[in-house]
Amino acid sequence: MSVRVVLAVVLLAGLCGCAPPRPRVVALPPLPAPSPLIDPYTACLKDLRDSRVAFEPVGEYETGGSCGIANPVRVSAAPVDWNKPGVMSCEMARTVARFEAEVVQPLALRHFGQRVVRLNHMGTYDCRTQRTTKAATAGRISEHSKGQALDLGGFGLADGTVVSVKKDWRGAGQKSEFLQAVAQASCQTFNVVLTPNHDRLHQDHLHLDIGPHRLCGY
Ligand SMILES: [Zn+2]
Repeated sequence: MSVRVVLAVVLLAGLCGCAPPRPRVVALPPLPAPSPLIDPYTACLKDLRDSRVAFEPVGEYETGGSCGIANPVRVSAAPVDWNKPGVMSCEMARTVARFEAEVVQPLALRHFGQRVVRLNHMGTYDCRTQRTTKAATAGRISEHSKGQALDLGGFGLADGTVVSVKKDWRGAGQKSEFLQAVAQASCQTFNVVLTPNHDRLHQDHLHLDIGPHRLCGY
């Protein structure tokens, strides 16, 4: 725009007394509501807290080779006390908590009329291959190496009674019936369940895992 034209515009504006156009007020769209989506790990930690699991998040858990845990936590109760803490993936801890609430406690009430107050496990994370008597799976990395497995040795009941896979799995009686019922129902919660019926390497515990394979060895 030339100087002459600008001058003319200014003069005209002055002559007619026109006020400069007022800026239009445009309402901004409302800010979007915070997304209800949170990342899966944060959601998992929240679920553990909501389930009254006693745990602490663990930093990186890589021990080389094919071993390591995604989103590791160290659990000491889920929510009944464990005989010792165990490191596992958050997803596995969440599954064990669900197992306790939906399988163990209802069956304990049904068989003994009382609750389980202690879970005795024999190991969680362990960087190793599978313990198996079958050549087809020999050398395969164990789900323990990924923090996706727990070896369950037994339970303690509210009145002090101890139920042990090693001592009570076989034979008749309340304890055996309870353990068999727990193992059978575990197949609904875990992907792999191995019991003393599976092979001689599982005589004293139930192996429970959430790995990619599916085997109910009850
Ligand atoms: Zn195991």
